[in-house]
Amino acid sequence: MGDDLDMARSLADLLRFDPATGDLAAIDPRGTPGLPKAAREDPKVWARAQLPILGGELFAEQEKLVAAAKTAGSRQRVLLLIQAMDCGGKDGTIKHVVGEFNPQGVQIVAFGKPTEEELAHDFLWRIEKALPGPGQVGVFNRSHYEDVLTVRVNSLVPARTWRARYNKINKFEAAVVGSGCELIKVMLHISYAEQRGRLSDRLQDPTKYWKYNPSDLDERRKWPAYQDAYNDALVKCSTDAAPWYVVPADRKWYRDWAVATLLLERFRALGLAYPPPDFDLDVERERLAQEAKVNGT
Ligand code: AMP
Ligand code: MG
Repeated sequence: MGDDLDMARSLADLLRFDPATGDLAAIDPRGTPGLPKAAREDPKVWARAQLPILGGELFAEQEKLVAAAKTAGSRQRVLLLIQAMDCGGKDGTIKHVVGEFNPQGVQIVAFGKPTEEELAHDFLWRIEKALPGPGQVGVFNRSHYEDVLTVRVNSLVPARTWRARYNKINKFEAAVVGSGCELIKVMLHISYAEQRGRLSDRLQDPTKYWKYNPSDLDERRKWPAYQDAYNDALVKCSTDAAPWYVVPADRKWYRDWAVATLLLERFRALGLAYPPPDFDLDVERERLAQEAKVNGT
């Protein structure tokens, strides 16, 4: 299979992490797998031009999801879970891709350091509470994976505790998917050099100071431990029910195109359709016509 979407069945097939053979270190963060031939002349211009087109299609798919929940009592919902190193582009992806949806049907939750109340519960407690309702598109900016990433790297709990979490995560995600939630797990994969550039931007540009946290540099020093922890999470938690997708993310235009395309492919696989009327169309059309006659407009 080539790295070209014209050759592959889908972008999902190209980006899905294979737990048997996958290795995060072997995935090039500057790569652009799946760009079609049409993009070759100027891939950046092409990808940026595609985004609003994909966005229109995502909007329509989301509308069908909402309609099915409203009229047919469907329990279907979609959850996009985003993980990345600091400066990996989580916020930018949400702005550019998730921004294409109707905001009324989107529920975005960012997971930071747990509160005392959250720490008093199981690590999945706050996650379960944040799951999207029927018809909603949920977005997780960070997630329960922090509990096997930053928590592991910084030894915030004993090793036996985080080691037991991969299995718990797999069981939890299988239950979530089983309850009608389409779970799309995306890791935005940036390089060490790209992170430096983005941190540097945050220190040079007064409009970006607020995004910088001195602890980001402390975490950067632990880069190899984080990459190992990410690789383990990808290997141990890439299941049939809930696969992981690794999106090369050094190039923002590719990242946005890839996440939008992946979302659209997964939406389409749901086979959503606008529901038929649950009333008599002819009767209602006639009623409106009569009413208009009476009122003269
Ligand atoms: P930001 O996304 O820049 O707002 O930062 C959120 C911070 O919360 C990051 O440093 C995360 O590593 C941290 N965080 C998120 N979840 C957890 C968790 N379960 N335990 C400890 N730290 C966490
Ligand atoms: Mg941060």
